[in-house]
Amino acid sequence: LTADEAIAKSRVVRSRRRTLSMELTDEGLLIRAPQFAAKAQIDRFIRQNRSWIEKRLKKLKARQEQLADVVPLTDEELNELKKEASKVIPERAAYYAQIIGVSYGRITIRCQKTRWGSCSRKGNLNFNCLLMLAPPEVLDSVVVHELCHLLEMNHSARFYASVRKAYPEYDRWNRWLKDNGPLLMAKAAD
Ligand SMILES: [Zn+2]
Repeated sequence: LTADEAIAKSRVVRSRRRTLSMELTDEGLLIRAPQFAAKAQIDRFIRQNRSWIEKRLKKLKARQEQLADVVPLTDEELNELKKEASKVIPERAAYYAQIIGVSYGRITIRCQKTRWGSCSRKGNLNFNCLLMLAPPEVLDSVVVHELCHLLEMNHSARFYASVRKAYPEYDRWNRWLKDNGPLLMAKAAD
């Protein structure tokens, strides 16, 4: 995708907002605009932000190349990781459950490409074995996130307040996972 292609494929979503913003998606440029913004105004906004678009495209391309270079782990390596995770993660969960003041049901470890963790309504927890490849702080931040769902089954401000109370550095390590997580997940087999 070149900048011109991204611009040619741009899509405008109008809503009750006061400013223009843009986002680069796999399909092209997504412009969010106020309900009655003139087309000329939107075109000018795109022209003014061309260097931003080019920079984002470069980044996107670099990330795609990185992802293409990832060598998936073998079944043996994944099993080893799972074994390790089955030892470490329940320990971390028990530790933080005490701090947060919750109790949980079963813990399941999977090596998956889609999510880092989840918490069921019955209080069972599920964690991704690939977390073992991340810094330990990342693992803890995911454990705390899922345990706090036992207090709040949503992502409300109250939920995040309880997460940050139990794990003050949550935002920093969550950022790490957002930035580096896709490269780790690419290591799981399809
Ligand atoms: Zn959540």
